[in-house]
Formats: sequence, structure tokens, C-alpha cells
Amino acid sequence: MNNEEQHPTFRIGPIRPPSEANSLLLQVTQGCTWNKCKFCELYRGTKFQAFSVESIKRDIDAIEHYANLAKPLIQSDGSVDRVTLSHVIASMNSEAQQCFYLVLNWLMHGGEHVFLQDGNTLALRNGRLTDVLQYLKEKFPKINRITSYGRAESLARISAEEYVQLREAGLTRIHSGFESGSDEVLAFINKGVTAEEEIRAGRNIKAGGIEFSVYFMPGVGGKALSEQNALGTARVISEIEPDFVRMRTVAIKPNTDLYTEFLNGNLELCSDDDKVREIQLLLEHAHCENTIVASDHIINLLPNIQGRLKEDKEKMLGIIDEYFSLSDLDRRLYQLLRRHNAVETVADMKKLNVLERRRLEQMCKSVKTEKAWAEQMNELLTRYV
Ligand code: SF4
Repeated sequence: MNNEEQHPTFRIGPIRPPSEANSLLLQVTQGCTWNKCKFCELYRGTKFQAFSVESIKRDIDAIEHYANLAKPLIQSDGSVDRVTLSHVIASMNSEAQQCFYLVLNWLMHGGEHVFLQDGNTLALRNGRLTDVLQYLKEKFPKINRITSYGRAESLARISAEEYVQLREAGLTRIHSGFESGSDEVLAFINKGVTAEEEIRAGRNIKAGGIEFSVYFMPGVGGKALSEQNALGTARVISEIEPDFVRMRTVAIKPNTDLYTEFLNGNLELCSDDDKVREIQLLLEHAHCENTIVASDHIINLLPNIQGRLKEDKEKMLGIIDEYFSLSDLDRRLYQLLRRHNAVETVADMKKLNVLERRRLEQMCKSVKTEKAWAEQMNELLTRYV
């Protein structure tokens, strides 16, 4: 019997939200239906494909195969029997081992959470996604959270009644990269979505009883559209009241269309201060009862801006005030340290010894213009995306 017969493999896509680090990844579509956002190069070169229900069910069967191998290895204290593990993986090729370790890690973390890949899973309609969800839950009844990405334009085409069906089949949370709620910014970055579609999508999802998590991208419209980016997003968020608003500071990578806009002089980069002001404006103008602000990515300058939009608003604005109370030089120093993952709060700068501080201050002073500094900070940011 060859390896393929012994160990059927299943597809694993390239990305998942940080909050799904220990989830099972089940790929039901490949790539993105749009593929034209100016800041994104993730699926360029990958043609969108929605897999057939039969082939996804085969993948679920393969996951069950690995789960049956992995379960006996997990001991009562949660650790893994390493000796038996080495025997089990000895018969697997590298692809099978990747599948096995994904399932093992998932089971070691409870085996309850699943993330459906790739960029626009909700394009799988007409009951096909419901069929997949039901099969998955039949095979793994312990699953209690199934989440997915969806583009607002696709999400807006789904009715609240269809979302109810998806929820009853097991879908619990949808993530959507809104990036902005400003039509001007959305058009500039070629998102292919309008603020009204975002609102329709969000309201239907919430009416269907599914959790909704949206992403805001401070700085993506550049200096010219900075205020619109914040205020437009605050309006959309207030209209929807999503469960989560997650910050994803823009990092403009070479080889993207947005970088070409920058090279052609059509985009002036936002400084870190501009991006923080956008968050400040968003917090001031968004009014929601139960929305949680999350800063769950290393790319964000002030990661402790987290909390409930209503109850923790003053605390989060206080963090921003503390940042702006720093001198120009200290703000640059903080930015530099943060971009090297050396600080998480303004107070962390106190840990710097005198000599190190002087050396870094010289680096900060050596960059003469705000524009040049913003370019350097952007370059450092691109290492994280
Ligand atoms: S919708 Fe998402 S995955 Fe698709 S191009 Fe835009 S950012 Fe990239």
C-alpha cells in the first residue's frame, strides 16, 4: 500500500486570522473572488475556485483519519506520547505530516474551533456551505465554533434568513476585511465594495445571529483621505454594531498597486501619528453598545488599545493621549522600538538604558523629514505582513 492510500491528505490554505492559530483549517474555497485590492498581493496568481461539496467531504474524512491517529497519543495531562508519535509519523510523507500535525495541534487545544479558508468562503452558496457544515459537525460533534472570511460584496447578497440557516448548520462567526467605511477610500484602494454594501452585509449577518468581526486599516487612504477613512469607518461601525473591530495598520508592500500609487506620487504615506489620530477619531465617533475593539496584530503601534467600545472608550483614548504627550523625538523613538517589537506600551520605554537610548535617539534625529521617516517606518512594517 502506498503512502497516499495509507494517509489521504487534505488541502490547507495560506492564511487564517491570528485568533484561529489553534483551529482546524478546512479549505472550502481557494483564493479570492476579487483579487484586485491595491494593497493586497495574497492571492495574485491564484485563480478563485469553490471546491465541490464531495471533495470537501473527502477532506473532512481525511481529517477524521488523522484525528483517529492523533487522539490515542494525547495523554490525560495534555502532553503527547513522543515515542508512539515518532512511530506514527514514520509512515508519512511531508504533506501527510503537515496534515497530521495540524489535526494533532487542533485536538490538543480542545478540537472545538474550525476556520474555513480562503479569502471569500461565503461565495459557496445555494446550500453547499450548509451541507459542508452539517457533515463537519456530524463527524466532529465537539466543534462549537466555526468561522470564516467573507468579502462584504458577497456577504451583502446573502439574506438574514440564509444566515439563520448557516448559523443553525454551525457557522458562528464571519470575519470581513472592510479596511475602511469611506466610499472615497474604498474606491481609491479598489476594494470593489461600497459602504452601503458593508452595512447591508453587517446587518444581515447580525440579524441571522452570527458573530461579525470587521477589520479597520488605519492609514490605507494616505494623508489625503485620512480623516474620511476614520469618520467613514466610524459611521459604518455605528450602523452595524459588529461584535469585533480589529485594527490592521496599513503596511504598503513593494509589488502592490498601492506602492505604485506611492511611487507615482498619488499617495502620500500617513505617518504613525496620522494613523493613531485615525484610531482616535474612530473611537470618538463610533457609538456601539457591545462592540469590542481588538488590536491583535504585531503591526499595530499601540497594541493595548483594546476593550469595549462603550465602556472602555475613555481608557483607550487615554492611551492615545499618553502617546501624544510624548515629545516628537520620543514618539519617533517609541515607533522605532515598536517596529522592532521591543515595546508594547509607552511605559516600556523606561526600560531602555541610557546608552541605548542615546544611540537610538541619534538614529531618530538622523532622518530629517517626516516624509522620509514615514517611509522608513513603512518599510519596517512590511516585514510583518
Ligand atoms: S478581498 Fe481580501 S483577499 Fe481579496 S484582494 Fe481584497 S484584501 Fe486581498
